[in-house]
Amino acid sequence: MERKVRTRVAPSPTGDPHVGTAYIAMFNIAFAHVNNGEFILRIEDTDQNRYTEGSEQMIFDSLNWLGLNWAEGPDIGGPVGPYRQSERFGIYGDYARMLVEKGEAYYCFCTPERLDNLRERQKAMKKAPGYDGHCRSLTKEEIEAKLAAGEPYVIRLKMPYEGETVIHDRLRGDIVFENSKIDDQVLLKADGFPTYHLANVVDDHLMGITHVIRAEEWISSTPKHIQLYKAFGWEQPEFIHMPLLRNSDRTKISKRKNPVSLNWYRDNGYLKEGLLNFLGLMAYSFKDGKEIFSLQEFKDTFNIDNVSLGGPVFDLVKLGWINNQHMRMKDLKELTDLAVPFFREKGFVGETLTEHERYALERIVEILREHAHTLKEIAEESEVYFKDEYTLPEITEEMDKKERKGIERLYNGIQDETGKKSIRLFLEKMEAFPTEDIPLEDAKKLLTDTLEEIGEGPGKVYMPLRAVLTGLPRGADLYNLISIIGKERTIGRLKRMMALYNI
Ligand code: GLU
Repeated sequence: MERKVRTRVAPSPTGDPHVGTAYIAMFNIAFAHVNNGEFILRIEDTDQNRYTEGSEQMIFDSLNWLGLNWAEGPDIGGPVGPYRQSERFGIYGDYARMLVEKGEAYYCFCTPERLDNLRERQKAMKKAPGYDGHCRSLTKEEIEAKLAAGEPYVIRLKMPYEGETVIHDRLRGDIVFENSKIDDQVLLKADGFPTYHLANVVDDHLMGITHVIRAEEWISSTPKHIQLYKAFGWEQPEFIHMPLLRNSDRTKISKRKNPVSLNWYRDNGYLKEGLLNFLGLMAYSFKDGKEIFSLQEFKDTFNIDNVSLGGPVFDLVKLGWINNQHMRMKDLKELTDLAVPFFREKGFVGETLTEHERYALERIVEILREHAHTLKEIAEESEVYFKDEYTLPEITEEMDKKERKGIERLYNGIQDETGKKSIRLFLEKMEAFPTEDIPLEDAKKLLTDTLEEIGEGPGKVYMPLRAVLTGLPRGADLYNLISIIGKERTIGRLKRMMALYNI
């Protein structure tokens, strides 16, 4: 009988949750989904030196944020748990000793000094570094004596000296390694902790993983894993190595050149839909060339053989474009909910929202999502709706011609007689308006009525109004602005600027 497809991610909690974890999880999830399989989460926390407090929780939180759900994992348990390697320590030692008994692994008592010397000698002779097999030939008696004397030891795998190990990678074809070049890797360290290789293989086996879909950087470990499966006599999973995410200079994606923390993307106002779509596109294209898709569409139509190995470059400009598309597609109420914390962060709204504030935020989001790339950008660009105290910008030497022209038009507008008349008339109309809330249609009408009554071109009327209502040469539509800030604040803005500029 075919085994049920089971895939996994196995991140190590060594810091901020990495964008690569989400990328790999997404492909594992899609593969499990199209094969009616299961996707699980395992935490590989055997390396205590690299362990970071709180990191595991951040992995859960960020994957949950993205909707990359697992069927079994350390937080929810499952039939083959525990799913946290630090809770499985006993298991690894037993399996390592099982290999010793089978003659597939051996105790190695070499001291760190001997290994250092060996490395130095190999370096001097320009030989590749690696263990020389010194303890492979210890006799049973020698081993027993050393164990009885309590000498520290590691357990190493007996790699074959000859032949080849071949990875049949689904995407890359056969990758061949000469066994003579592969070290007798350590399986169990002197402190009794397993190495990554041992724990990873034992767990993938015990957890019934059928397909190991992981990043390209693990290819060099895979022959060691294959040898381990052979040594145990276990069926191998299928190995699929995904292309690495890369910086624009094609090096492996790194903190110095790109934000790599999933938290960064969330805190900077990317939507989960945008980030996932972007990560999907990194190594995958839909047959019909579609660039904008949801996780569900990706999962439903996924075909692992369409993964492209091109070495995808992580491009924040592209991500911004994709995120903008998703912001525009999203239900406005939902998008506004997601944007609220960003407005709050800017100090534009408090903990609770009044009904009018809620209305205003929805309108602002609706307007700004057309061009903004992130929720954060929406909040940042919305200052004009919140700041009632401003003056006209000063004209400076460094300004370019276009900018200077725009600002000059504001000054001319409020000094011009028609401009002053327009502002006063508009104030009158505002004061006569019956309610604090100004529906959009009424806001439009107030402006067009003013224009009509003045009987001059729109530039002559609207530019001075823009000057007093925003202090800015371009940006927000006036009717939206008025409707958003309401009657009282509109009047406040008008009066303040009229006093300031003697209008
Ligand atoms: N613990 C490894 C990591 O941090 C797992 C690699 C693998 O998938 O085998 O990514």
